[in-house]
Amino acid sequence: MSSKLEYDVIVVGAGPAGLSAAIVLAKAGVKVIVLERGKFPGSKNVMGGVFYSDCMKGIVDEFPGKAPVERHVIEQRMWILDDGSSVGFNHRNDLFNKKPYNCHTVFRAKLDRWLAAEAEKAGALIINNTVVRAPLMENGKVIGVKTDRPDGDVFANCVIATDGVNSLFAKAMGLRKKIKQDAVAIAVKEVIGLDEEVINNRFNITGEEGVTIEMTGSYFSGETMAFLYTNKKSVSLGVGMVLKDVIENKINPNDLIEKLKKHPSVAPLIAGGETKEFLAHLIPEGGYKEMPKLVGNGVMIAGDAAMMVDAIHREGSNLAITSGKFAAEAYLEAAKNGDFSEKALLPYVKKLQDSFVLKDLKKYKGVPELLQTNKRLLLKYPKLLNQAAFEMLNVDGVPVKDKEKLIWKTVKKEIGIGNLVKDLFKLWRNMA
Ligand SMILES: Cc1cc2nc3c(=O)[nH]c(=O)nc-3n(C[C@H](O)[C@H](O)[C@H](O)COP(=O)(O)OP(=O)(O)OC[C@H]3O[C@@H](n4cnc5c(N)ncnc54)[C@H](O)[C@@H]3O)c2cc1C
Repeated sequence: MSSKLEYDVIVVGAGPAGLSAAIVLAKAGVKVIVLERGKFPGSKNVMGGVFYSDCMKGIVDEFPGKAPVERHVIEQRMWILDDGSSVGFNHRNDLFNKKPYNCHTVFRAKLDRWLAAEAEKAGALIINNTVVRAPLMENGKVIGVKTDRPDGDVFANCVIATDGVNSLFAKAMGLRKKIKQDAVAIAVKEVIGLDEEVINNRFNITGEEGVTIEMTGSYFSGETMAFLYTNKKSVSLGVGMVLKDVIENKINPNDLIEKLKKHPSVAPLIAGGETKEFLAHLIPEGGYKEMPKLVGNGVMIAGDAAMMVDAIHREGSNLAITSGKFAAEAYLEAAKNGDFSEKALLPYVKKLQDSFVLKDLKKYKGVPELLQTNKRLLLKYPKLLNQAAFEMLNVDGVPVKDKEKLIWKTVKKEIGIGNLVKDLFKLWRNMA
């Protein structure tokens, strides 16, 4: 790399956020370079695998088209797990089975590579095996980046930092504080190979149809989200726990997935499967309150680097792609006046504010703190719910009225009426 490489825009990190920005910019004729530390885009990237493709509008002409997707999701299940039991809610809908499908399961190693190929086709330059070490500054403005390559300084009008949850770039710029232990979850995922027919039979689906299962509850000892998603010839099974709970409870994240595999609602679905891949990654779950400043002079932050994950709706990749697209569009507007100051890049923030990205993150802004400060919600209520379901569904000669009294007595003993009212109010305030 020469010491005087000059581009219009440098994108740091070839994940969904960076690649969507690169596609939009390259299509508009902007000279854009994407610097990626992995040996190829997606090589280091992890997600459970649910991809909402509505965000691809305005980025590619059609989706999925030739994009590497696994199955389109026609049924979504939500389970609350306790030891030996689960209470669930399922939603299956013919509307999910009508084209164009909006929800697919995917593998990131394939999806990111495909996005990268789209970016290259549009004219972006992607350089792999390159770590961006720091911003290059002049008079308080970002003018480029320092990489780990000899003579590897690259210069540009503007940098879009999409370097993921650990964003060294945002930290180095002082735009983001050190990530708190309760604002990030550590997640492990296994891809478990199974025959296509076995998957179809077990999940009651045919052809390319897919099912997702989200799980939480008192089966785990901390704030935990788990998932099981169907791919063509495998299922993706994973579990993530807030780092603070992992540390306080001295939990080995590998033990979480082993425990999940043994749950009686999960075990039959993965029986006979063979582990093909094991992955681990952090998920930024701090939400709106932990988001960094999104723009500076000559820089915008997007995707996980900016904490844009909506853990309630298991959305992250779509927020990353939308924010990457908005950053690119804000650059194009700023370029009309050749002004890339913080003020000139503020339309990026306005676009986010006017979209589902900041509206949804803002709506749930109190949830991460609520779940961390009120352990009853994820540890006691799920247990009680499972116990109540068992009482009411187990026909054993005990009159229903007596069962209701027992449930109520247990709730009063375990939670207390005052706490119950307070918890319901807080849930309503933070979720509604
Ligand atoms: C276990 C798990 C399950 C998830 N499940 C889902 C799901 O089902 N659906 C969903 O929508 N979201 C899910 N997410 C969230 C989703 O993966 C992220 O929100 C999304 O990947 C964010 O994209 P990004 O481009 O911002 O960051 P990333 O995908 O993390 O990409 C960042 C890129 O930057 C590169 N990079 C980092 N530092 C540097 C550097 N210094 N120099 C150069 N390159 C660098 C990385 O190698 C990487 O390629 C999940 C996340 C995890 C961990």
